[in-house]
Amino acid sequence: MRDAGIEAPQREARLLMAVASGLTTSDLIIRGHQPVPASLADTFHAIVARRAAREPFQHIARTASFFGLDLVSDRRALVPRADSEVVVEAALALLPEGRDARVVDLGTGSGCLLAALLATRTELTGIGLDASSDAADLARENVERLGLGNRARILTGSWTEWTGWADVDLVISNPPYINAATIASLDPEVRLHDPLDALDGGEDGLAAYREIVMLARAGLRAGVPIVFEIGFDQRSSVSGLMADAGFIGLGSSRDLAGNDRVVWAFQAES
Ligand code: GLN
Repeated sequence: MRDAGIEAPQREARLLMAVASGLTTSDLIIRGHQPVPASLADTFHAIVARRAAREPFQHIARTASFFGLDLVSDRRALVPRADSEVVVEAALALLPEGRDARVVDLGTGSGCLLAALLATRTELTGIGLDASSDAADLARENVERLGLGNRARILTGSWTEWTGWADVDLVISNPPYINAATIASLDPEVRLHDPLDALDGGEDGLAAYREIVMLARAGLRAGVPIVFEIGFDQRSSVSGLMADAGFIGLGSSRDLAGNDRVVWAFQAES
């Protein structure tokens, strides 16, 4: 796996053995001296080969941890990223605690942002929208497994056709934002195994933001915020297009690596 460019091959090999055997990594240490049955060795070698082909660990394990939740993760949607947890935190800070509110997650993918919001605040309900029916199926599976199915509705469809803008109290979105020139240089885990539609933000990476901002400006009630995940170099361009459209109260925050990762702004009076 080191030859395949995996950064921490021994650590990942231990975790893959845990996946193959169904045991925890500490059980594996305790049983370390016991011989490995041939069938387990075969399973292990097969999944090591998948990881060496740079399939994301989360797809092999079929699970990803996000905001303290265990989510199902596979090739139907982007693997939930730790960086996106700050998007959830920013949205929570904008929602007064204890007050019922309806959120919409545009391009919900695995459903990670919506699930994290609803799991943290029981007073929230929400809609997760995705143009991919595969992604919507995955999101539905996730909210149901987490017991959030009665507060989350997952819909297949594009935000251009969605008509519920006037009914929501917060918009959250991690839209596709990678520009055409950058796609080819993404890590193989992302480039080869995440759905391209979830990454491709058009020529300048801003196509989805432009569409959403325009639709939101026409449809949201005054005072409703949009919270966007952004690429590390998109803070001024995304806040610029929100300001140009007439959104007010611009804010931003960074991820754990110190990169700009979130921007938000509020619908003004019309
Ligand atoms: N952060 C993701 C990446 O680096 C991109 C996510 C997106 O386009 N929304 O691959």
